[in-house]
Amino acid sequence: MSGVKGWCPGALRPMDSGDGWVVRIKPRGAKLSRDQAEGIADAAQLHGNGLIDLTGRGNLQLRGVTPDSHAPLIADLRALDLIDPDIATETRRNILVTPFGGDATDALVRDLETALAASALTLPAKFGFAVDTGPALVLTHDPADIRIERAGHGLILRAEGMAQGAALGTPRDAVNMARWFLERGGARNGRGRMAALIARGVTPRADITPNRPAPHAFPASLPQGVLAGFEFGQVPPDTLRRLGRLGTLRLTPWRMLLVQGARHLPPMPGLILDTGDPRLRVRACTGAPGCAQAHAATRPLARNLAALVPQDAVLHVSGCAKGCGWPRAADMTLTATPQGFDLIRHGCAHDAPTLRGLHPDQLPKVL
Ligand code: SF4
Repeated sequence: MSGVKGWCPGALRPMDSGDGWVVRIKPRGAKLSRDQAEGIADAAQLHGNGLIDLTGRGNLQLRGVTPDSHAPLIADLRALDLIDPDIATETRRNILVTPFGGDATDALVRDLETALAASALTLPAKFGFAVDTGPALVLTHDPADIRIERAGHGLILRAEGMAQGAALGTPRDAVNMARWFLERGGARNGRGRMAALIARGVTPRADITPNRPAPHAFPASLPQGVLAGFEFGQVPPDTLRRLGRLGTLRLTPWRMLLVQGARHLPPMPGLILDTGDPRLRVRACTGAPGCAQAHAATRPLARNLAALVPQDAVLHVSGCAKGCGWPRAADMTLTATPQGFDLIRHGCAHDAPTLRGLHPDQLPKVL
């Protein structure tokens, strides 16, 4: 497999890690049917090491896949309609979806996926869309380059970095904006983000202000269902199976699943139902020993520090500057280096630290 080293893994282009290949699944419409949830749980155990991660981009990752198990895994996932026809289509299909949108949002996302697949655009691997068309905006703080949002009772298309957008005609308009981004020189050497292009003064037409975002903290029990959280976003296979039997599972970029239509959830291994639980305030990548690039173990440290993280704040512990565990800014980030942990405030794992080379024993004090 020639594409094994991709920076952003997919299913067709896995990434090598300390515990084998990481295979990222992007469920269409950011939702899983009962059969898909069960099939992914089976596939994780049969073809991987049984670990299933929820990612910060609303996807799922299976770990511990091998060169021999990859082809049968893809065949099983393809039978569940979880695989794109080719790597280019898979790479382009980065769409965050509000879990609270309902049927109209599902139809819009389907049209956007179809238009993107037909477009043949070569977008940067991290370039993405957000469909935030539920009753209130909930994805404003989650990374995306092109947003479809609610403004009053209508929908607008907004480029990241702009305060306003323009009325949305069809989902194809979002693909046309991605083409505009490329034509205006937004991508160089396969990299580039919309906000950087906008910051250079290249702006699309925009005169409609989106609705205000909803408060970012949700209770677990909502009119649309129950939000299920997991420590470090890791879902035990049997819990995924059981949740899939209780309703359609909506994936979120908050490493939580909305079990649609559920009124309450029984206790299950790994399930966190109190959205105020300190474990939901910490993020950590696989770290050592699972990842070969890690300079330290991450999860035991994050677990120890969780109780010190203020409510509404996020602590990210990263095994290296790549920051896979939370690919965005956090209130506090600890990045492992060969010399100890660097502390970054209000930044990403690769940003300039305010303190360097800290020993784990110093961390409770400096946080
Ligand atoms: S951020 Fe963590 S998982 Fe990603 S490469 Fe670095 S150590 Fe590995």
